[in-house]
Amino acid sequence: MKQNIYFDNAATTAVRKEVFAAMKPFFEREFGNPSSVYEIARNAKRHIEDARLKVAKAIGAEPEEIYFTGSGTEADNWAIKGAADANKNRGRHIITSVIEHHAVLHTCEYLEKNGFDVTYLPVNEHGIIEPEELKKAMRPETIVVSLMFANNEIGTIQPIKELAEITKSGGAIFHTDAVQAVGHVEIDVKEMNIDMLALSGHKLGAPKGVGALYIKKGTKIEQFIHGGGQERRKRGGTENVAGIVGLAVAVELASVEIEDERKRLEFLRDKLIKGIEEKIPHIRVNGHREKRLPGNVNVSFEFIEGESLLLHLDMSGIFASSGSACTSGDLDPSHVLLAIGLPHEIAHGSLRLTVGRDNTESDVDKVLEVLPGIVQRLRDMSPLYNPEN
Ligand SMILES: *Cc1c(COP(=O)(O)O)cnc(C)c1O
Repeated sequence: MKQNIYFDNAATTAVRKEVFAAMKPFFEREFGNPSSVYEIARNAKRHIEDARLKVAKAIGAEPEEIYFTGSGTEADNWAIKGAADANKNRGRHIITSVIEHHAVLHTCEYLEKNGFDVTYLPVNEHGIIEPEELKKAMRPETIVVSLMFANNEIGTIQPIKELAEITKSGGAIFHTDAVQAVGHVEIDVKEMNIDMLALSGHKLGAPKGVGALYIKKGTKIEQFIHGGGQERRKRGGTENVAGIVGLAVAVELASVEIEDERKRLEFLRDKLIKGIEEKIPHIRVNGHREKRLPGNVNVSFEFIEGESLLLHLDMSGIFASSGSACTSGDLDPSHVLLAIGLPHEIAHGSLRLTVGRDNTESDVDKVLEVLPGIVQRLRDMSPLYNPEN
């Protein structure tokens, strides 16, 4: 039987079996609406509050500062639009970066069309947002700064504490999209001076369709989803009880295992990077070598298309992601790879392998065994490739 190897853990992850087990009762006998009064409803309500406590604990927040949402995207939208709206009388300037996820970038573009002024900070060649750039961009009318904790494509981890400090001393609200970081990097929102933080279940072993937003007490923010009085009247909609319970179990497990898992993933990541560097010429590793998510590998191969590489890997049962978005009908290469200075043709030849909980060293060995041959075959078909070089 062909064994598939999943190396796209930054796109989504499988639901962990402990998470699935914890969720199951809430689809079955504990199906009550948490807003009702009888026993199965009260139980559901109690489990949501227990989940809130677990999520809060994992990031150093208070339980009343955690709001469950329908996704990481919703949490980012709410944070930025909600804070922009509630603070627009103080100013209409927002700062973000060029390497954000579309959940943040497209939200900021929407606000630009609605009377806000947005500064997109550049990054250096490693994908790091330089604190100096933020200092230069801050204005008296800056109300919100949204900078991601760790990048989903090249894995770069940002100097969040420093960026938050600059934001706070300029009197603005600091939001971070920590969807890729939670469960992989230690986070303490109080120690790091973070006002708002978005996270998502399906990137860390919980199901799709559940996320959370941490909102520091006292932060001025408008309600985003209007409806019933759920989530302390801040986010309407009957709670996704099973999803919330699953999210909390995943977050709790990840924070217990964080150190061991970090070491294990870093070992696999570095073995992959080193193996690719040794076996394949004309490549470039994207992102910072050390300030990098433990499971992220992002490499550009000259003279080939990332999309063809993905198809060939797929045929070998290896599931990965590329640096371009051709599959989504968009011919532009990744905005993140362009932002770190890659020329279009190099950015097009990029491959992202994201190692996760279920990957083993033999998965890494298998990739290192088949990848060089695939790259060579694709290069042999390329009119630009000259083996004499
Ligand atoms: C996946 C992801 C999101 C979106 O989260 P969803 O729950 O899929 O909506 C936002 N930001 C980053 C960095 C991500 O990787």
